[in-house]
Amino acid sequence: MSEDCIFCQIVAGDIPNRTVYEDDDVLAFLDANPLAPGHTLVIPKAHHETLGDLPADAGASVFETLHRLTPVIEEAVDADASNVAFNNGEAAGQEVPHVHGHVIPRFEGDGGGP
Ligand code: 5GP
Ligand code: ZN
Repeated sequence: MSEDCIFCQIVAGDIPNRTVYEDDDVLAFLDANPLAPGHTLVIPKAHHETLGDLPADAGASVFETLHRLTPVIEEAVDADASNVAFNNGEAAGQEVPHVHGHVIPRFEGDGGGP
């Protein structure tokens, strides 16, 4: 855990979240400022800043969760598709320095793209 990391504080239960899925390695929760209904973040519970810092097994757990959850999230909000994306590093728009994948449901005619 990184003391000043907001996502580590969510994992620790110090900041409330709306959990979508949780296991020993991964937490998925609704984004506080959703770009679309059902916008979900999938994070490793362990603190790693970027994908390059993430051990392969933690990356596999995150991807497996994205793989299983994405169709469930789409169905839950009746979406037609989704953007699944990582902002990887500050210059790429990563605001929270704890690896997280976004699942952003998309709807026909909404303009598409992140
Ligand atoms: P980034 O720009 O780093 O890829 O995305 C960070 C995301 O985290 C943003 O979409 C933002 O809305 C979300 N976020 C930031 N702080 C919190 C929080 O305390 N709780 C939740 N649920 N989401 C947060
Ligand atoms: Zn963290």
